[in-house]
Amino acid sequence: PQSPTSPMSKQAEIPGIAAVIAVASGKGGVGKSTTALNLALGLRDLGLRVGLLDADIYGPSVPRLTGIREKPQLNDDKKMIPIPRFGLAIMSIGFLVEEDTAMIWRGPMVMSAITQMLRDVAWGTLDILVVDMPPGTGDAQLTLAQNVPLKGAVIISTPQDLSLIDARRGLAMFKKVNVPVLGIVENMSYFQCPHCGTKSDIFGHGGARHEAERLAVPFLGEIPLHMSIRATSDSGTPVVESEPDGPHAAIYRAIGAKVR
Ligand code: ADP
Repeated sequence: PQSPTSPMSKQAEIPGIAAVIAVASGKGGVGKSTTALNLALGLRDLGLRVGLLDADIYGPSVPRLTGIREKPQLNDDKKMIPIPRFGLAIMSIGFLVEEDTAMIWRGPMVMSAITQMLRDVAWGTLDILVVDMPPGTGDAQLTLAQNVPLKGAVIISTPQDLSLIDARRGLAMFKKVNVPVLGIVENMSYFQCPHCGTKSDIFGHGGARHEAERLAVPFLGEIPLHMSIRATSDSGTPVVESEPDGPHAAIYRAIGAKVR
């Protein structure tokens, strides 16, 4: 729920978009982009009109995760038309630059690129826009959190201590700019063998849940480290889309129901 003191009211809302949710992580490689996309699909399954903005300027992975290769067209108002895929409206900074282009962005460039992708895109009418944030809690992330009218942030962490320390920094960052933290997701929570289904706690287990309790923010769910989550991502059809009746899709939908 939007608190009356949230900075959202001070920022220009984006016409047609009812709510913007940031998916963030304290560091890279914890599965932020994988979770952002599958969460967007989970929200779609709940009957919502959903957009996905890949604002990870340091390593946009949405083109790879969705298999989208085309560049967005401009409409008559010179706004970019998001690419429709899996029932989502998708925009990524990766659609605009060549793959393998080393992107070295200074803070102001980051902000103007992201502002453009938010406001110069013909999003249409959306219930929720999911923003896949750049990893980390530096200036770029802080400015972003400050300048985007966020309903709230979802923080992705693995159970490991180091990832949790970074998640804590993310929490502090959003607190600083009065963005409500909708909760923490524990990704790669446990290993589930694709052959026998046995669970192993490779990185320890439950760290993010304890951390959420300690910091008094909601714990949103545990996503296992599972071969099919990685394999479906790599093939460009994420798990919620390719295995809609499977256990993983159900987890992402349950997380979606908590943050919608
Ligand atoms: P980030 O956005 O945090 O850098 P990615 O979403 O790109 O991380 O994920 C990093 C790698 O881990 C990718 O190869 C992805 O397929 C894999 N991955 C992410 N989450 C899971 C999971 N729950 N199970 C298996 N592989 C995962």
